[in-house]
Amino acid sequence: MTHEEKSANAASHEFQAAFRRSLLLHRKGRYSFFYHVQFPGSEKSPYRDVDPVLHLDFRNWLSMPPADTIADNRHYRKLIDRQDALLALVRLALDEAAAARLTEARYVAVLGAMYEFDHAADQLMASITTALTDIDELTGVLNRTALERDIDKLSGEAVDRPLALAMIDADHFKRVNDTWGHPVGDGVLTQLAERFAASLRPQDRLYRYGGEEFLVILPDTDACKALPVMERLRLRACGTPMTHDELHIEQSVSVGLAQRRPDESLHDAIERADRALYRAKQAGRNRVMADD
Ligand code: GH3
Ligand code: MG
Ligand code: MG
Repeated sequence: MTHEEKSANAASHEFQAAFRRSLLLHRKGRYSFFYHVQFPGSEKSPYRDVDPVLHLDFRNWLSMPPADTIADNRHYRKLIDRQDALLALVRLALDEAAAARLTEARYVAVLGAMYEFDHAADQLMASITTALTDIDELTGVLNRTALERDIDKLSGEAVDRPLALAMIDADHFKRVNDTWGHPVGDGVLTQLAERFAASLRPQDRLYRYGGEEFLVILPDTDACKALPVMERLRLRACGTPMTHDELHIEQSVSVGLAQRRPDESLHDAIERADRALYRAKQAGRNRVMADD
């Protein structure tokens, strides 16, 4: 994963923690609201100095602004809308309570707005969590969990458009670990993933399939069009040595390519890509082979 993606991922983790804390303080605003409508003007409660309107705005308690990816998230925008609606109702209810004319209908409307807010907050939290659990910790590319979900999604779609799959495996990777140790091997895998990501097109999806194996889904692409994409990826991987501290490590990859057949499951197509990869290895490695 690129440095930008890695820091975006770290930012999502940080934002998730900050968001959780801000929700806790938002809730304190609710307790204060309940207290103030129940005992307007009372000086005794621990909530007397907690301004409900100020506290209910969770953005006042966020220790960091949301990253662009989160600020643009439709659940985030919905949450802000729901919060604005809640704050407007709370202001009205507090004024009415202070004047001893708060109606049951207004109170029920506030409770309804709280429920709507909670629903949007849950959805936002779930979407942040899903985004984070889809990422491979080491390389920052999509992981196996994301792949299985995407396979399910793609399987449900019509197969009238071509789709290519490529299985990538680092050549003689065991030697890297044996020669320089596992942490250096980890660094090489991370750099490989960065180079793969840089060679792919925006619509392609890169997954860590396991160990030193990666899978690419190339949507709307037949085998003929996928071949130059994967060839570019292979050349970029081995073009210049990987650097790790003072080390310069030559690392090539082999690639097996398959175009999905109309009558075939994606898992079967992946198996054919894997067989093509095996043939690329047999033929001497550092090459792309397409299944026919
Ligand atoms: P081939 O060209 O036939 O693929 O040879 P290879 O040595 O790459 O193949 P093999 O499958 O025998 O070895 C894969 C190695 O990848 C063994 C394993 O220790 C290493 N490996 C798998 N996952 C990781 C990882 O996350 N980090 C590191 N450092 N090594 C890993
Ligand atoms: Mg392997
Ligand atoms: Mg290997």
